[in-house]
Amino acid sequence: MNSEQKRYEGKAKIIYATNEPEVLLAYFKDDATAFNAQKRGEIVDKGRINCQISTHLFRLLEAKGIPTHWIESPGEREMKVRSVEIIPLEVVVRNIAAGSLCRQTGLALGTPLQPPLVEFYFKNDALGDPLLTRDRILVMGLATEAQLAQLIQLAQSINAILSDFFRQCRITLVDFKVEFGIDAQQNLLLADEISPDTCRLWDQSEVDINRRILDKDRFRQDLGQVEEAYQQVLARILAHIS
Ligand code: 5GP
Repeated sequence: MNSEQKRYEGKAKIIYATNEPEVLLAYFKDDATAFNAQKRGEIVDKGRINCQISTHLFRLLEAKGIPTHWIESPGEREMKVRSVEIIPLEVVVRNIAAGSLCRQTGLALGTPLQPPLVEFYFKNDALGDPLLTRDRILVMGLATEAQLAQLIQLAQSINAILSDFFRQCRITLVDFKVEFGIDAQQNLLLADEISPDTCRLWDQSEVDINRRILDKDRFRQDLGQVEEAYQQVLARILAHIS
């Protein structure tokens, strides 16, 4: 890929144009950031692992009727995706209290959330991705009421499918962040990636609260063995994918 075809470079991926106007190529990098890019580093092989994990999860979701931007993954770090206009909302689904929910509410780490919590954050680094309310989203014109209802329903369905699949892998899906976009035909599609960078994943065979972590919290909290954790997630997915 040459630099002329480069459309956009984000924290974890580079997006290239292709010969087809409605198709883009996402290249997954090893770069890792946390805390709004205040912490930076590299996780060896992360791009390859996350591309493969995302590929399997997008295929699984597509097979269960969730519309996604994924088309095919021609290389180990490359994913062909449908071009979409990203809605600047981070949709977070939480099954168990962790992370910013605990920090902001005082809920104890590990508190089960039933029904799962669906939250919206403004995808805006300069503002620090603030938590939004439904009314703020409408006032800001980020989505319509109908789109919000659709986003909540899609997020809940994605959570049900992924939670069930990860349970088969002996992994608890604690929470995750997804992004959506709108394609040229006005379809609402699941976009971006789903990987240990965007999910909290706990190993069900570990009780120790640090050893059970199989996601980016290992990097955020300097727990070590980050690559090993990501590899472990991929290995379990590969062992359970049909
Ligand atoms: P929290 O709000 O607790 O920090 O994050 C909730 C979930 O969403 C976690 O699984 C976290 O990895 C994911 N998440 C939230 N914001 C971001 C973000 O800006 N980038 C990434 N990669 N994941 C995020």
